[in-house]
Amino acid sequence: MSLRTEGLAKAFGGVTAVDGATVEIREGAINGLIGPNGSGKTTFFNLVTGLIRPDAGRVLYKGKEITAWSPHRIAHAGLGRTFQLCRIFPRMTVLENMLVAVRRTRLRELLAGSRNAAEVERARHWLHRMGIEHLEHAEARHLSYGQQKLLELAAIFMGDPDLVLLDEPAGGVNPALIDRIVTLVRDLNAEGRTFLVVEHNMDVVMGMCDHVVVFDRGAPICEGTPETVQSDPRVLEAYLGV
Ligand code: ADP
Repeated sequence: MSLRTEGLAKAFGGVTAVDGATVEIREGAINGLIGPNGSGKTTFFNLVTGLIRPDAGRVLYKGKEITAWSPHRIAHAGLGRTFQLCRIFPRMTVLENMLVAVRRTRLRELLAGSRNAAEVERARHWLHRMGIEHLEHAEARHLSYGQQKLLELAAIFMGDPDLVLLDEPAGGVNPALIDRIVTLVRDLNAEGRTFLVVEHNMDVVMGMCDHVVVFDRGAPICEGTPETVQSDPRVLEAYLGV
């Protein structure tokens, strides 16, 4: 068991965003998390990664309770995540973004020009894996949106995560780069990393995920293989409101 939530709940004012969600993420798989807009997927990610605190419920990672741990401590425990709107430092170079990803507190050292050779090597390895090693000296803001997403993904791997949460990896990315991202995720999964992916592009979900959990109104309503959830009447009802 990689990640499990039990009765996770969060409301904002009068709006219930996550409503008693009990979810089990399959270890070693590419898990998809889908559901209509406003069904609580992003809030679920934010709860799991410690960005917001739940009103109720627990988050367990590798059997250990991590509920309300700080985002930094959760990342350090092996849980990496990307954001729907890429979080990188636009005026830093690609390589600098990789190096600050190791430990944000090293920013001052980095700016003073001191670099750890092993970390630089590791950064170059991951940039190469993402196919953006030729951009290492470019400022991140000069990269295309898809390249920025690859940089964000590369930066996560500086933390050597076991479980990677991807928030809309294909959103706003051109089709050629979507294919590259899908292939990368499949390769990284084959090397033993577990993924949980929120994605609106159904072709990507169906082509990439082994197991899909469907959210509606803040909690899972069904789960299974991409094929089974796609034809489940509860899922059609949730999306179409019929
Ligand atoms: P999804 O990612 O599935 O689109 P969200 O988790 O973003 O869903 O949102 C779930 C519900 O919670 C929505 O009704 C949304 O408007 C509400 N919500 C999310 N974040 C906040 C917030 N910070 N303040 C108020 N309401 C929020």
